[in-house]
Amino acid sequence: MARIEIDKHSGYCFGVVKAIAKAEEHLYSKEELYCLGDIVHNNMEVKRLEKKGMKTVHYEEFAGLKNKKILIRAHGEPPSTYKTAERQGLELVDATCPVVLNLQKRVSKAYQEHKNDGTQILIFGKPGHAEVNGLVGQTQNTAIVVEHLADLVKVDLDRPVIMFSQTTKSLEEYRQLVEAITAGINPAVGFEHYDTICRHMSGRVLQVRDFAAANDLVFFVSDAKSSNGKSLYEACKEVNDNTYFISSPGEVRTIDVAGFQRIGISGATSTPRWLMEEVRREIEKKLQVSGESTQEL
Ligand code: SF4
Repeated sequence: MARIEIDKHSGYCFGVVKAIAKAEEHLYSKEELYCLGDIVHNNMEVKRLEKKGMKTVHYEEFAGLKNKKILIRAHGEPPSTYKTAERQGLELVDATCPVVLNLQKRVSKAYQEHKNDGTQILIFGKPGHAEVNGLVGQTQNTAIVVEHLADLVKVDLDRPVIMFSQTTKSLEEYRQLVEAITAGINPAVGFEHYDTICRHMSGRVLQVRDFAAANDLVFFVSDAKSSNGKSLYEACKEVNDNTYFISSPGEVRTIDVAGFQRIGISGATSTPRWLMEEVRREIEKKLQVSGESTQEL
């Protein structure tokens, strides 16, 4: 008998739960609601909310939008977005995650205190990611975004450095950057670094590894656009080679599930629980076709 388990730690973080709840609250009362960018990096969840009436707009359309109600998602936005919204008479439903909001304030404070003393503000993050754009915006777009060690060529190590991290980055890579800067920076100048990685995220890597190791076959469910999904999938794959990245339940049909005793389903912080449940039903159907019985955990 095969037993199928959904990773109890997987799925939305509280920041995303809050953003979706805010959207649903407005949609429930039939109010017209726009969302700036995908509410979550999961196409299927975006489509579900769009069916309920939410309209996703991207920055080009946002520039021309007037007198509407628009949701700011959990990643947050730079100050320029708030100014545009005000100018265009847009009513904001601000669902910026409180953890991100706090980080924006810290980056802004560091910028205000050091903007005239030659200090470089570094954001360890993915260039172009919405949260990173929101953070860089706190510094009049002067912060330097570093994602890899090779990006340190952009940093003048003879000038002071203050580094923050995007909330969803890897703790290990953050430590490597700190080590490299500490080793290379002129000892006469200061280097402050703040590990601002969300603990919901950093804890997930260890949990997901344990989960993958405890199963014979793992389906990791995520949208290909989710950077968090990509890194958690890689963590699973490192400990269990029988890990498959899928974005929709239909993809289960292409993967051989027969003969596995322990099947696990995990997901990113942007993967809805209902989607993982659908993946479970698809696995059950496949096992029944091959004559195997299943047990849910
Ligand atoms: S990962 Fe953390 S910081 Fe990012 S939205 Fe979720 S709770 Fe907020």
